[in-house]
Amino acid sequence: MKTTVIVGSGFSGLMVAVNLVRQDYAGRVVLVEKRPVVAQGAAYSTAFPGHLLNVPAFGMSAYPDEPDHFKTWAVARGFREDAFVPRCLYGEYLKEQFTARRDRLEVVSAEAVRVETGQLYLDDGQTLAWDHLVLALGNFPPQRLKIPCDSGFYDSSYFQQDPWDSTARPPVQSVLLIGTGLTAVDKVLELAESTREIYAISRHGLRPKAHPNPPLRLSPEQAIRLDPSQGSLSLLRQFRAEVRRTGDWRFTIASLRAATNPIWQGLSEPEKMRFRRHLGSLWDNHRHQIPWEVSDHLSRLQNLHFLAGRLHQFQQVQNRVRVSYAGGQLEVDRVINCTGPSGNLKQVDSPLLADLLHRGLGSLNPSQLGLATNSDFRLLDSDGQASSNIFTLGPLLKGTLGETIAVPEIREQAVRVAAGILCGGDR
Ligand SMILES: Cc1cc2nc3c(=O)[nH]c(=O)nc-3n(C[C@H](O)[C@H](O)[C@H](O)COP(=O)(O)OP(=O)(O)OC[C@H]3O[C@@H](n4cnc5c(N)ncnc54)[C@H](O)[C@@H]3O)c2cc1C
Repeated sequence: MKTTVIVGSGFSGLMVAVNLVRQDYAGRVVLVEKRPVVAQGAAYSTAFPGHLLNVPAFGMSAYPDEPDHFKTWAVARGFREDAFVPRCLYGEYLKEQFTARRDRLEVVSAEAVRVETGQLYLDDGQTLAWDHLVLALGNFPPQRLKIPCDSGFYDSSYFQQDPWDSTARPPVQSVLLIGTGLTAVDKVLELAESTREIYAISRHGLRPKAHPNPPLRLSPEQAIRLDPSQGSLSLLRQFRAEVRRTGDWRFTIASLRAATNPIWQGLSEPEKMRFRRHLGSLWDNHRHQIPWEVSDHLSRLQNLHFLAGRLHQFQQVQNRVRVSYAGGQLEVDRVINCTGPSGNLKQVDSPLLADLLHRGLGSLNPSQLGLATNSDFRLLDSDGQASSNIFTLGPLLKGTLGETIAVPEIREQAVRVAAGILCGGDR
């Protein structure tokens, strides 16, 4: 009997497993998960009900062939079909998908730390034999900061490196969030209290943009496509022309979604780098919109301050942190790294990834944001050869694809990875 081992049981790993079972895979399916929570991953294991999905319920089905699957589930629980449902509820939905196939899935609670052809080594000393291996490692905590500071600052209680670490900490009166994107919004929602000052800083100080109310709902006929052949500057010009034509940048962004990957893959590597360098943060700020009700809530918070400017230094002054940045200084009780999931795979803390790259079983894509794969999500080894039996999907495809971190794309990838395994993993 063949064995498929899936490392990571977040949405990506879970949905590969579920699709294998749905398609009557005859082999063993083993999910390896290092966190105590199975089948939810970082995004949907939050216990905080104020953390909402950033995609309306009608867009969050786990199954591409049943697009209303989550919508129906959410409506049955009293939500509108265009509601931004709490992420913990989506976690329950995923848990149900897991539980319904529990008898066909094996779960191993451990961290996978080393891989050889046919063997996976875990941190508890176990070894798992595999015929097919799926790397669904997901999002990594933010990259370490390199802002000058007093020695030991980054390891002190004044600094929180991992914004998703839910270890209880003593309450404080003032906080600086580094980053003004979705991770910072999560933290604001958790920390907002009438007496607590919250500062959020980024180079440009861009405030998160909101979905319209009601959220947009596009039909496939409204999809647009831009021509990437003339590079990123030309793309920007075409995008602006589309915004003038439609009169609505949100509509233009939404109608580009289905074509983002072909457009991205049509850019040369230097043009991709150019896009990321000059337009990356602006694109992310417009593309990743927050629910309109969260945006309303933030705008009513009088103690929330968005700041723009490059950070210069952290200094410990008595029991506080003095923060110097281009544009001023402030003192806070705690600093939290909210720069978002780490982008540079060379620097993330993953023994498994380091070992995979070291052995040449996988390789980074030119952007180093993700792993190199062929179009079937099979890993390319250090010689550029596609593996017959190692796959990846989700956030690990960043850079290879332009859109790959959210449910609407990952659910399609999970079906294709399962199909690759079912067809024997032959190239
Ligand atoms: C805070 C947050 C909110 C989000 N909200 C939305 C949203 O509303 N809508 C949307 O479409 N997308 C959202 N996303 C995007 C998100 O990336 C995807 O929806 C999806 O959750 C990604 O799932 P994943 O399984 O690839 O990654 P993850 O959820 O990160 O799961 C990866 C799993 O792999 C495990 N793992 C990693 N390495 C190992 C190892 N070596 N051994 C064993 N286990 C390992 C981890 O413990 C983790 O559980 C959000 C992301 C974040 C971070």
